[in-house]
Amino acid sequence: MNIENMKSEFDIIELLKLTSRTSISRNLDIKLGIGDDCAIFSNYAISTDLLIEHVHFFSDVNPYNLGHKSLAVNLSDLAAIGAKPHSFLLGLSLPNINNIWLKNFSHGIINLANIHNCQLIGGDTTSSKSNIVISITVIGTIDSNLALKRSNAQINDDIWISGLLGNSRLALEHKLGKHKINIEDFNICLKNLELPTPRLELGQNLCGIANAAIDISDGLLSDLEHILKASKVSAIINWQDIPISEQLSRQNIIMQKLCALNGGDDYELCFTAQPIKRNAIIQKANQLGIKISHIGNIIANNDKNISNIQIMENNQMMDIKYVDEIIKNQFKHF
Ligand code: ADP
Ligand code: MG
Repeated sequence: MNIENMKSEFDIIELLKLTSRTSISRNLDIKLGIGDDCAIFSNYAISTDLLIEHVHFFSDVNPYNLGHKSLAVNLSDLAAIGAKPHSFLLGLSLPNINNIWLKNFSHGIINLANIHNCQLIGGDTTSSKSNIVISITVIGTIDSNLALKRSNAQINDDIWISGLLGNSRLALEHKLGKHKINIEDFNICLKNLELPTPRLELGQNLCGIANAAIDISDGLLSDLEHILKASKVSAIINWQDIPISEQLSRQNIIMQKLCALNGGDDYELCFTAQPIKRNAIIQKANQLGIKISHIGNIIANNDKNISNIQIMENNQMMDIKYVDEIIKNQFKHF
């Protein structure tokens, strides 16, 4: 890869991946390496995520919520592969020591960790010149043969989404002053943004039923595209079937599309499964009390073998230029 052409985080990851492939040491018990929500070695799934002040969270965020979210986004990667939480490491870099802030932050992390029986087993703490940096590495257990890989979506698979999409982005748009919503709606959306629920039980229950999965951290289109590229397939989805909240349905159609198709931070699961598995999936979701929606299907790539997403709206193809505009507007985390 030409280093001058690197434009996004994915180009950097590709460069690191290519470079590491040429290195000599290859460990045979690594069953899944760079490219999925977790790496898998032996019967463990492992994943790491960074949260940086001013990039991933506002300085005035409630520290309890920040603690919760720091672990939740990591647990969400375990959910996406179908793993069960085991333990985690916490890296913390702080510009100063504020006892009350730290107490609340640790309660936010540890309360969520306790719910999922995920034990803090180590980490590192340093001072920082300016920003707060939080780095968590989670470890889960998994039967590697049943892991929900991004690369296993099959032609004709149904595409499913858990929960509702877009509220986190709507809260962000309001907070940034770009699109004002009423205070009751904002408070609900802020909870989605700051206190996401990792879909761990759903992920574990989908092992052996679903073919592929990813958690929606960057936005439906962007994350579904990861499944499609890894599986070398394409998708057709229906705008009307994409699940959005009451709060989002009260906004104009552009805002609805921006938040639901391209809003990050939802931490819902997007997964694919054979149509024959429909009843089993609906039954599992009902048992867990989780809403799921069938939003479309996997189709073959075009003749140039390029993965793409067609979005249908009222039986017509949604104007892709319009969707591109939405993507250009994306709030970049990178
Ligand atoms: P996620 O959104 O699930 O956290 P990402 O899109 O951030 O996943 O990353 C895609 C893949 O690239 C993952 O397998 C991740 O482990 C890998 N990756 C990201 N950054 C790096 C890095 N700096 N070095 C090696 N691998 C990386
Ligand atoms: Mg992920």
